[in-house]
Amino acid sequence: MIVVFIFILGLLVGSFLNVVIYRLHRQEDFVKGSSKCLFCGHKLHAKDLVPLFSYLYLNGKCRYCKHRFSKQYPLVELATGVVFTLVFLKIVPELNIYFIGFTDLFILIYWWIMSAWLIIIFVYDFKYYLILDKVVLPAIIVAFIASILLGISWLNMLLAAIIGGGFFLIQFLVSKGRWIGGGDIRLGLLMGVLLGWPDILVALFLAYVLGSFFGIILLSSGKKHLSDKVAFGTFLTLATFLTLLYGSQIVGWYWSLFIYY
Ligand SMILES: [Zn+2]
Repeated sequence: MIVVFIFILGLLVGSFLNVVIYRLHRQEDFVKGSSKCLFCGHKLHAKDLVPLFSYLYLNGKCRYCKHRFSKQYPLVELATGVVFTLVFLKIVPELNIYFIGFTDLFILIYWWIMSAWLIIIFVYDFKYYLILDKVVLPAIIVAFIASILLGISWLNMLLAAIIGGGFFLIQFLVSKGRWIGGGDIRLGLLMGVLLGWPDILVALFLAYVLGSFFGIILLSSGKKHLSDKVAFGTFLTLATFLTLLYGSQIVGWYWSLFIYY
């Protein structure tokens, strides 16, 4: 039962993330303003704004002008619901919220916040091929403070941040900014602070595996060409989330490939 509540919490946060992403792009202050249909300007009421369900009930259209809404809205809500549930299951596997320790509660909220941040970076890079400093830099500060409070050594974080940031800085310098953008360097720093050593290596490796995998699929299906822009931040954020939750399992699975074959 608690899982259902967590999933709904994730849906609600996801609908907030959609607003944040939209207003980041429009450069608006995302605390102000009420929700309006982007096409007819009709004010949207609570019944139009129920995450996921309003979209499904209205068949993806505005109730007033019947204009079709972007699939981004329900997808981000659904993804946030799933992500919040996965984080919860990872930290509270026995599903007993009443006996959760203070440290676990802190990690739960911290990981939820960082996951939400990663979702914003993912969607923004996917849509606009851009990793915004005003999104990544505050995330680095929050991850740094939370990691210090959790007793993670700053030397470990520094090492991982140097690896994460340096990895992209070298590529940036070698390619004179053609392969990757400056945003990837800052995202590399965030990955380092968030994951620490040695998980930063797992995430970088995983990002390239995911990137190659989807790259081959998109190239062979003819949807993308080699000269097309690649939103590499999407693979980095996905790999960061997977490593945060399942880092040790991923390493174990990787080594098992060599032991059994
Ligand atoms: Zn409308």
